[in-house]
Amino acid sequence: MSSKHAVLKEVFGFDGFRPGQERIVDCLLDGRHVLAVMPTGAGKSLTYQVPALCKGGLTVVVSPLVALMQDQVAALKLAGVAAESINSAASRDDNIAIWKRVAAGEVRILYLAPERLMTERMIGALQRIGISLIAIDEAHCISQWGASFRPEYDMLQNLRSAFPGVPIGAVTATADEATRQDIMGKLFGGDSDLYVAGFDRPNISLTVQPKSSTRKQLLAFLQNRPEESGIVYALSRKSSEELAKFLSDNGYRSVPYHAGLSPEQRAEAQNLFMTEPGVIVCATIAFGMGIDKPDVRFVFHADMPGSLDAYYQEIGRAGRDGAPADAHMVFGLQDITMRRRFIDQEHTDDERRRREHKRLDSLVAYCEAPECRRQALLSYFGETSKPCGNCDACLSPVPTVDGTEDARKILLTAEMTGERFGATHLADLLLGKANAKGQSLGHNQLPVYATGRNQPRHVWQSLIRQMVGGGYLTLDVAGYGGLSIAPKGRALIRGDGTFRYRADMIRAARPSEKKAA
Ligand code: ADP
Ligand code: ZN
Repeated sequence: MSSKHAVLKEVFGFDGFRPGQERIVDCLLDGRHVLAVMPTGAGKSLTYQVPALCKGGLTVVVSPLVALMQDQVAALKLAGVAAESINSAASRDDNIAIWKRVAAGEVRILYLAPERLMTERMIGALQRIGISLIAIDEAHCISQWGASFRPEYDMLQNLRSAFPGVPIGAVTATADEATRQDIMGKLFGGDSDLYVAGFDRPNISLTVQPKSSTRKQLLAFLQNRPEESGIVYALSRKSSEELAKFLSDNGYRSVPYHAGLSPEQRAEAQNLFMTEPGVIVCATIAFGMGIDKPDVRFVFHADMPGSLDAYYQEIGRAGRDGAPADAHMVFGLQDITMRRRFIDQEHTDDERRRREHKRLDSLVAYCEAPECRRQALLSYFGETSKPCGNCDACLSPVPTVDGTEDARKILLTAEMTGERFGATHLADLLLGKANAKGQSLGHNQLPVYATGRNQPRHVWQSLIRQMVGGGYLTLDVAGYGGLSIAPKGRALIRGDGTFRYRADMIRAARPSEKKAA
């Protein structure tokens, strides 16, 4: 049996589970029935696909719609999983061919509509072959309470007696209390686990600040937090060590933690953090797995995390006791550049690379969110919520300013220089400060040259950053931080739409705070 983490990483390419996922996976691996209620987009499919692949043998997934089955099968095949569906849209011959492969033990995950599964012939055949796991998608269809009751789901009640000892995982995005009871009664005779997702951690305040000087920003953040336990996440081993030393030099109890330390050093750091009050661990992502300290009061991201999934996991280590805790992040354009480069280096598969870039876009959008950050975070997980009142955007709503004119200057500068240059070069040109290379390329002859002298460099850089965040410019497709114009930016050049920016982001990036880091 492969381990769940290995399957998650090697087949699906994810570093960690989302919170509910692991509990559901564990239930099914332990052989227990479970009903999972999680919003759309939360990642329900993985909760049965991972155990299916860990267990080996055949898993049967019941799904109500042919289109849904086809999507899932296609996605699984892309990931290299032997998945198939037998359905009414396929030809009889195709279905027979697939069935032969199932019977020969060549298929890991088989998708079926309930009416096709619940025939005597199919049940009998599957009993002979033997199955490891059953998953029921859109499980609310079994409940007469719901608006989407499907008579063919009713027959699924017989599954548990037809396949004794085979765990059944039922998932749905919509089930109120009555519907849940109904589902669990019918499918499991009332004997099952229940997991209802809620991604919100309302006691964790969410704040994000443009990076000016990481060190100064960290000290300012810590100012009103004497003796609090916390985690500072940094991208590299080196910076986690430097930050720990810097904090120690400034009178805090701080230790580094990363995978380059010896097991003894790591155990010591972890032990100190767990047992002593007021310890700050400056860590890479190596720190956190299995750390269950209830009173971690803050998580400070000195660098941007890898994705919103990673971010959510990392900040989730704060405030487990339910008392107020803070998640603060500082981030800058260089973080985005770095992350893009990582993605391009790490993934050779185009599809996966594209997906990773999109995940990063979601993270950047979160960082630049002009409105409630929690809404932005939860909506990524498919959950809707009201403005939270516990994030910087809610507490001090940020006025946005019309920057369409400046945005157009930036876009034109990018366009006229072939969409190959980064933020620094574009700002140079707008300021009329072309370097030798720019001059040799004739960039100092462009009509946009020196048209931006009315405002300082940091303003232009911040505008560019916000344009990247807002999807007007795309950063670094080739991996060198070059900016190209996104469709939204093209529209702006044509005179369609407006660009509004957060003035506070610009103020926060003032060069007076810009040193060290
Ligand atoms: P649901 O069925 O709950 O609507 P899906 O199973 O379709 O959700 O998953 C939604 C998205 O979340 C997919 O793009 C999936 O790849 C992604 N996802 C699922 N689990 C994880 C995870 N552990 N880490 C990162 N992304 C995940
Ligand atoms: Zn909010």
